[in-house]
Amino acid sequence: MLKSSIIKDLALRAGFDLCGIVPCCHFAENEHYFREWLASGYGADLYYLERNLDKRFDVGRLVEGAKSVIVCGVNYKSPRSMGYPAGCPTKVASYACNRDYHTTLKQMLATLYASLKELVPSLCARAFTDSAPLLEKQLAVQAGLGWIGRQSLLITPRFGSFVLLCELVIDHEVDCYDSPFEGSRCGECRRCVEACPNGAILPTKSIDACRCISRLTIEKSPDLTSECVGGDVGLAGWIFGCDECQSCCPYNRTTPYATNLNFAPPLFDPVEISAEEWQRMSEELFAERFGQTPLLRSGLQRIQQNIKSQD
Ligand code: SF4
Ligand code: SF4
Repeated sequence: MLKSSIIKDLALRAGFDLCGIVPCCHFAENEHYFREWLASGYGADLYYLERNLDKRFDVGRLVEGAKSVIVCGVNYKSPRSMGYPAGCPTKVASYACNRDYHTTLKQMLATLYASLKELVPSLCARAFTDSAPLLEKQLAVQAGLGWIGRQSLLITPRFGSFVLLCELVIDHEVDCYDSPFEGSRCGECRRCVEACPNGAILPTKSIDACRCISRLTIEKSPDLTSECVGGDVGLAGWIFGCDECQSCCPYNRTTPYATNLNFAPPLFDPVEISAEEWQRMSEELFAERFGQTPLLRSGLQRIQQNIKSQD
């Protein structure tokens, strides 16, 4: 049987900062709340969230023969994660200032899998990096890595919320599973709710995607005048993603910066690129400078539209 301590050691060697292991289970309560959230329309046009709902909450149905989930996390905090100069019109969420994390985390999971395979050649596994219907934040709580904050993100005691998650689902049992993280440490704090420029944080530790800048700058068409419950929305200087509800969180204040070389130092600092420079940029230069980053997902034209909509 695989030993938990060995898996965790190999995860650290693969570059992860956090690792917890859980048996496959069905998150019935979460499925109930998620279905209610979707039915309330808070998912906006993120229709992909509605697919494979039964599998999303039951890893055993997602991967045949699955027995355990190795939940891994990597700290990506950079100085820019903690904020921008007042009035900066070209803010980019700090995760996006690096190479696309889907690629990076997949490579790290492949390294972990290869190491485990050396120990147990019969092992079969499937890797997930935010790309499949997996309830990764809840899995991370079950794996003892942290709690879900009021802004709906995982907060870990050691690294705060600037943590990227990924999972290796394996068809073997492990000698010792982690205990779930009990309770929330948010207490009476409401800083994230107060800091959100669009009031997008709901009382149920979930987000109104219609109002969330992360979606408004990346997923949605840039027409901000569309029917948003609760009044107008704006982008508050963000041109890709938004970190406001994280940079204000007291649990991020004293956490260390990333040490993993995939995230430190970041590939660029958005403060050094003016709005005019973005507007003048050619597609060739964009591909050359940002082709490896998540900015490619929205594309140059979308970034330019986001800037223009804030003129
Ligand atoms: S990412 Fe920005 S807009 Fe979305 S909930 Fe957080 S602070 Fe609000
Ligand atoms: S800002 Fe406060 S309420 Fe929000 S997630 Fe952090 S600790 Fe919780």
